[in-house]
Amino acid sequence: MSVCLWCAVLLFVAWLGSGWWFISWIGASGWSAGIGRGGFGFGRVVVPREFAVSPGWVVGPDYPPARSGYAPIWEWTVHWASPHPPNFYTSTPLWIPFVTAAMLAAFLYRRHRREHRRTEAGLCPTCGYDRRGLASPAAPCPECGSPSK
Ligand SMILES: [Zn+2]
Repeated sequence: MSVCLWCAVLLFVAWLGSGWWFISWIGASGWSAGIGRGGFGFGRVVVPREFAVSPGWVVGPDYPPARSGYAPIWEWTVHWASPHPPNFYTSTPLWIPFVTAAMLAAFLYRRHRREHRRTEAGLCPTCGYDRRGLASPAAPCPECGSPSK
C-alpha cells in the first residue's frame, strides 16, 4: 500500500474515532492541541481558574467538562478572543486532510494501474507509444525518451 493510502486510512480512523474519543495536550500557559469531535484543534485559551484543566495529556471519551457543548467540527474555524495576550482557538475538520490523502492515493493508484496496463500491452508506460516494433526492448522510448521498465 502506498504512503498516501496509509495516511488516508489513519486519518479516516482518527476522524471516526474522534467522534467518541478525544486526545488533547494542555500546556501550563493555556496552549493546547488535540483531536476530538471530528477535528484537530490548536490554540491558546485562558479560561477562568475554576474551569481550568490541569496541564498534561488528557484522553477520554468525549471532551473534558470545560469544553462540553461543542458541536462536531465540520468547518474550518478560527476563534480570536483577544490578540494581547494571544487567545485563540483554531479547529480543522479531519475530513479535509482525509479527503486530500484519499484523492491523492486514488490518483496515484490510477496512474500506477495505467502504467502497468501499458507495460503489459507492450506500450510505453509514460506516453503510450507502441514499443513492440523496437529493435531493443531496453531502448528508451523514441517518443518521449523515458527509459524502458
Ligand atoms: Zn514514451
